Amino acid sequence: MSENKPYWKRWQESHREQLRQYHREWCKKNKDKVRQYAKKYQEIHGFLPQRKYYYKIKSQIFEILGNKCSRCGFSDLRVLQIDHKFGKGNEDRKYKNASYKYYRLILEKLKANSQDYQLLCANCNIIKKFEECELNQWNYRGKKDAIFLHL
Ligand SMILES: [Zn+2]
Repeated sequence: MSENKPYWKRWQESHREQLRQYHREWCKKNKDKVRQYAKKYQEIHGFLPQRKYYYKIKSQIFEILGNKCSRCGFSDLRVLQIDHKFGKGNEDRKYKNASYKYYRLILEKLKANSQDYQLLCANCNIIKKFEECELNQWNYRGKKDAIFLHL
């Protein structure tokens, strides 16, 4: 099969690492051009080119999870968040801040039929956190009455 590919394509594949290296070097030497390109891209698309892959994965996850809040059905994508149904496992915590790597992991799991994730809107997500006392992990440690501040 690979013999049918055009020569340049085969060359490109066999030199992938060199090309990547070259691209990296070029970006380092042409920071201004890269920045300009990113700015233009953002004007057209509304987000930075680095985020493209991230959004692509995110939209695939949303698609699999039904594009709506699994509690109340709210479907405004701007407030929908991916929620780990059973709290966050160690594996997930490791990726917490590494955006697209974390999403890629979730997508792989979902494609393997994982039932661990759901979409929640921001409201339902915070309510769930209260119900499951997950908030203790952040600001409410040791303040038992803190919940009443929100009632
Ligand atoms: Zn909701």
